[in-house]
Amino acid sequence: MPCAPLTAPAVRVTDPARPPGRAAGPELRLDLAAVAANTRVLAARATRLMAVVKADGFGHGAVETARAALGAGASSLGVTSVEEALSLRCAGLRVPILSWLNPVEADFEAALRADVSVAVPGREHLAAVVRAASRTGRPATVHLHLDTGMARDGADPAQWPDLCRQAREAERGGLVRVTGVMGHLGCADTPGDACTDRALELFRTASAVAARAGLRPGIRHLAATSATLTDPRTRFDLSRVGAGLYGIDPTRTTGLRPALTLTAPVVSARTVPAGTRAGYGHAWTAARRTHLALLAVGYADGLPRAASGRAEVLLAGRRRPVVGRVSMDQVIVDCGDRPAVPGDIATVFGAGDAGEPTVRDWARWSGTIEHEIVTGLGTRLRRTVHHSGVAA
Ligand SMILES: *Cc1c(COP(=O)(O)O)cnc(C)c1O
Repeated sequence: MPCAPLTAPAVRVTDPARPPGRAAGPELRLDLAAVAANTRVLAARATRLMAVVKADGFGHGAVETARAALGAGASSLGVTSVEEALSLRCAGLRVPILSWLNPVEADFEAALRADVSVAVPGREHLAAVVRAASRTGRPATVHLHLDTGMARDGADPAQWPDLCRQAREAERGGLVRVTGVMGHLGCADTPGDACTDRALELFRTASAVAARAGLRPGIRHLAATSATLTDPRTRFDLSRVGAGLYGIDPTRTTGLRPALTLTAPVVSARTVPAGTRAGYGHAWTAARRTHLALLAVGYADGLPRAASGRAEVLLAGRRRPVVGRVSMDQVIVDCGDRPAVPGDIATVFGAGDAGEPTVRDWARWSGTIEHEIVTGLGTRLRRTVHHSGVAA
């Protein structure tokens, strides 16, 4: 089995005794206690829970968040690509893993050898999986994937009866076992949307069609975070939750805890007279004499340039505006009448407990969703892993 992690593992704190406030550079802290607490909230509303750790665990670190979620009530892992699944196996994770978005040419043989289940959205994928099964001599464990109303991934409902028949034939040949049927909801962020009713109807009908074809998929799954939190009709046998694990609730109905904190030390500080213009394009002008602080984080680290002119950070206990344009590697903070000192630590975002901005604030400032902020965090940030503030 090829064994290479997709991303560098999070750098752990090797010197937990480093005095706070003397950080060498920006630090992205992952709080596993938050992931565990969020998992428990979601697990209480699910029949069974699959922790979705695609895109490196939504930018948090796939292996660390997977372990935390599995320790708190999740029983399986979900990812898009076979490569992501293999990197979890490489890290020693032995629980069931489902990979649901692959080109026909994906390395299904490696998936089968690593005991990774794959979603099958059509006859071409079924054929590819059958080929991999006959080459490896291992039957493929597959979940048939139906498009339940997004015109996106999954089989076109018109093709579903054929796909079920073909899958049943492959089962008879001993090369495939259909253990699941999956769909996905496009409008679950808006509880009560009729689009979810239609998807439910489609999914129930499709499950019945699969049963009539002779399939016995014991794991029917439709819900992701939003439906798990707000619509018990969508529970079936399993919920695939990503966002919620990381403290993102798109329905705004449940208090989940953000798991990431980004801090950055003040690199330099200066006092400028009224009329001083700052940053690229001189997009900001000092209205009065003021104190500026420079942080070495920018859009290369995932702070959207679109947040220029709106963003804030927490510095010395106060919210302070980021002024001028967000640069690739730096932002300027207006500290008002209070000079900053190089080495002071600014909190760019966190859980919000001390008044610091949250990822949700950054998403609002830049006209996007929290998912895009956390998955866009840059690879050069120093990453550390903690448990309720204690280095893990
Ligand atoms: C990303 C994804 C999920 C997880 O969705 P969240 O809303 O983040 O919980 C579940 N299912 C599929 C098919 C996905 O692509």
